[in-house]
Amino acid sequence: MIRNFSADYIITVAGEPLKNGVVSVNDEGEIVNIYNADDFDTNSGEVEKHSGVIVPGFVNSHCHLELSHLEGVIPKGLKLIAFIREVLKNRKADESRIIECMEKADKLMYQNGIVAVGDISSTNLSKNIKEKSSIYYHTYVEVLGFDPEKAEDVFNKGLELKNEFYPLSTSLTMHAPYSVSKELFKLFKNYYADQTNLLSLHNQESEEENKLYRYKTGEFIDFYESMDISIDYFKPQARNSLQSVIPLLAKDQKILMVHNTFTSLKDLYFVGRFGRDVSWCFCPNANLHIEGRLPKIPMFMSHDFNITLGTDSFASNDQLDILAEMKAVATGFPTIPLETLIQWSTLNGAKFLGIDQDFGSIEKGKKPGLNLISNVKAMKLSPQSGVQKLI
Ligand SMILES: [Zn+2]
Repeated sequence: MIRNFSADYIITVAGEPLKNGVVSVNDEGEIVNIYNADDFDTNSGEVEKHSGVIVPGFVNSHCHLELSHLEGVIPKGLKLIAFIREVLKNRKADESRIIECMEKADKLMYQNGIVAVGDISSTNLSKNIKEKSSIYYHTYVEVLGFDPEKAEDVFNKGLELKNEFYPLSTSLTMHAPYSVSKELFKLFKNYYADQTNLLSLHNQESEEENKLYRYKTGEFIDFYESMDISIDYFKPQARNSLQSVIPLLAKDQKILMVHNTFTSLKDLYFVGRFGRDVSWCFCPNANLHIEGRLPKIPMFMSHDFNITLGTDSFASNDQLDILAEMKAVATGFPTIPLETLIQWSTLNGAKFLGIDQDFGSIEKGKKPGLNLISNVKAMKLSPQSGVQKLI
């Protein structure tokens, strides 16, 4: 059976928004036709007409399912290092409780119109949920280790964990510049020199990361001391963390830099000059939760970069809702058009994950899912805007 959906606008992300357009979908969720308002033949069946805007299903570019049991646990405004301490203190829990919370998170994301997720994992606990889920998951198996002597061990354990996720879509990834040694970066560079591997790196989530790299000062020094980890071998690099790690990444590697809260214009010029395949993922509600500020998002827009959005986890967010992330960006930067926010939340994330043949835009032959966003006024989100999954 074919179902026909219409709304005030259809934002296809493949062309201009269609005022009062109609999109037809078959039982498999495949888009079979898209019509301008005047072109739809009313004999072709009934139309489910909605108030609001129809958009493709959302792609959540950054999440940690396995931290779902930290919902409501970590207070706002701690700043990153105190936040990390809280995560380390609280993340141990009964396996059954962790799994229960992950299942709930998976269901919530589905209800919130999310059709694909890039999920960071450092255990295999989420595997069964991902296999059963109606959401497409790409798992970034994450390793970290600032001690150069442990690099090889850490890398090999990461590969083993990656194998445990077979046959799901996975790649091996590193945590953050402040938690990964140069030696570990080199192992990645060699291993993936001639094969594609999606890399996702937490980047400049705190100014402390830049301080560590520039001058070897700041709170990370105390942090490592308190963890009894020696960083004597680490030399200050006299430049921001991003500029220090970009040359350590393989040339054809697709890289998603996540957060970018303290990325500077100079950093962006550096990345542009270096010719690496970098996309940027923003998780505005997590940034507001932890650091109380947003990245300079318009600065990235003037560089023609691929931009995506993510929710991060329940450790740093009250919800796993891409619409809520769009609202946070729109509140901070009201001039960014809704169509741009939609593109970041759909096609750009799908392109990064390499799933844009099915997801990310409303085009014939794709199965992107359809969401209805309500209470859109003059093509702007309002605080009352909500999301309803149509298919
Ligand atoms: Zn994260």
